[in-house]
Amino acid sequence: MTDTPTVVVVGSGPIGAAYAREVLENHPTARVVMFEAGPQLTPVPGQSVRNIADPEEKERAREMSQGPQAGAHRESLGLPAGVVVEGMFTARGGTHLIDFGGEGSGHAPSFPAAAASTNVGGMGAHWTCAIPRPHQSEKISFIPDDEWETLIGRAETLLHAQSAAFADSPIGGAIRALLDEEFGAELPEGRGVGTLPVAGDPQPDGSMVWAGADAVFGPLLDADSPLSRRFQLHDLSLVREVVRDGDRVTGVVVEDLRTRETRTVAADAVVVAADAFRTPQLLWASGIRPAALGRYLTEHPVVIGTVALDADRMSRHATEEQLAEELERRAQNAADPVAAVNRIPFSEPGHPYSLQVMYAERPPFELDPSNPHAGNKWGYVNMGYGMRKRPRVEDGVTFDDDERDYRGFPNMTIEYALTDAEQAEIDEATERLRRAGAALGAFVAGPRLLPAGSSLHYQGTTRIGQADDGTSVADAYSRVWGVENLWVGGNGTIPTATTVNPTLMSVAIAVRGARALAASLA
Ligand code: FAD
Repeated sequence: MTDTPTVVVVGSGPIGAAYAREVLENHPTARVVMFEAGPQLTPVPGQSVRNIADPEEKERAREMSQGPQAGAHRESLGLPAGVVVEGMFTARGGTHLIDFGGEGSGHAPSFPAAAASTNVGGMGAHWTCAIPRPHQSEKISFIPDDEWETLIGRAETLLHAQSAAFADSPIGGAIRALLDEEFGAELPEGRGVGTLPVAGDPQPDGSMVWAGADAVFGPLLDADSPLSRRFQLHDLSLVREVVRDGDRVTGVVVEDLRTRETRTVAADAVVVAADAFRTPQLLWASGIRPAALGRYLTEHPVVIGTVALDADRMSRHATEEQLAEELERRAQNAADPVAAVNRIPFSEPGHPYSLQVMYAERPPFELDPSNPHAGNKWGYVNMGYGMRKRPRVEDGVTFDDDERDYRGFPNMTIEYALTDAEQAEIDEATERLRRAGAALGAFVAGPRLLPAGSSLHYQGTTRIGQADDGTSVADAYSRVWGVENLWVGGNGTIPTATTVNPTLMSVAIAVRGARALAASLA
């Protein structure tokens, strides 16, 4: 090992950023070289696109992140124009579907909404920033509780956690009061109706600056910080292979998507944090193929609905003046559609699901003016229950060496099915969503179960475990079994069935991995 070891990180989302930051803060001389396949969107790398005020600029940043579905931007992203016919399906802004339907598309008929983002900051430039903590069986049994508290606390610091965002909103308070009347008596102490912790920094005008990977990078992006001198980020740089020599990796093969030139970069350790589908794909393409690679895919089945808030009920807890003040405050920041975020968290045994309730003055879709709830004075809530999916070896992604995807990697096929256990919880949560809707007002859409893959929370495909017994890809510190200096990061490492939004948990797992990595370089 040299005095200045090099750590290569693949992927610049919140997890790659957490590895970069923790390695540099925990090792006095190491360098981190990060490669990101997508383009840098914002002046500071990895900022949330939601903070961009200009609607056209925001739209452009989203399209630039859409890889094979980036329309006119494709060529500038290193993807030949015209080779891929635009598919039949469209994804959520800022993301592209795995099964986008054109040439080189992956196959995911049973998981059709599976998506990815390809840009500096990854999905973390587009996310909703909800960061609740995992609880009870959602947590990882083999990480001791006191250590977990430290890790999750560090993850909250890295993500600029804010547990009381919009807590002073009287409309948000009225929504909580109505939900509490309906459900409060059934919920355990400390796990009742509350505000949803989010990642970002509240501003004096009541708005939020949402956190992305930029927050996690922190001093690495500050030219005055000595840490920034040991950090490099290369955008539009696609890692094609992790080079392995026996039980060690020696570096990566990287293609510069601007020049199309390929080079090999030597590394003392490699971290692959390239999302829950492309991380196992890159390992597979590199000939690193533990039995559990790509298997045990889980997500959160999601049931959603939109409700027009009932004037009589809301006015029991908030006044018309407070509503007018809230709307006036909101008008100052029309670019951000979310005003108040509430939740009912996961708790066992009675409430093994998570409810997220977002207030907005307008519904997320055009409501026919003849609809009696169009232009509803008290506004709307978009609500969703996230449910568990039990990890099973049958669910997962496989890679085909004989069929190449739009980038030339072994193509993906995702296989996934819900079992009776999941269906039962979906039915229970749907019933609760109906009750929540009735308590707050009248449904203008839903409740409906979204297509599989819609949660954007894909877990388990590079799961961590305690023993190299074929049911995990990496050890309890995220180091790939059988390869001394290769780490995996991201939601794929989560081995449990969860309902909680995964990023906070994945950052906590990454902090543990990065500290072990830094120690291994000593
Ligand atoms: P990503 O952020 O996906 O980053 C991976 C990066 O790796 C990408 O930029 C990709 O281009 C790059 N990459 C892939 N392959 C290569 C390669 N071969 N070479 C170089 N680079 C490569 N999570 C929550 O916890 N709470 C939420 O409220 C929430 N809301 C969301 C809302 C939306 C609209 C979206 C899209 C996501 C949401 N998520 C949410 C999910 C969250 O964004 C992810 O959990 C998080 O971004 C995962 O971080 P990551 O670094 O592991 O992966």
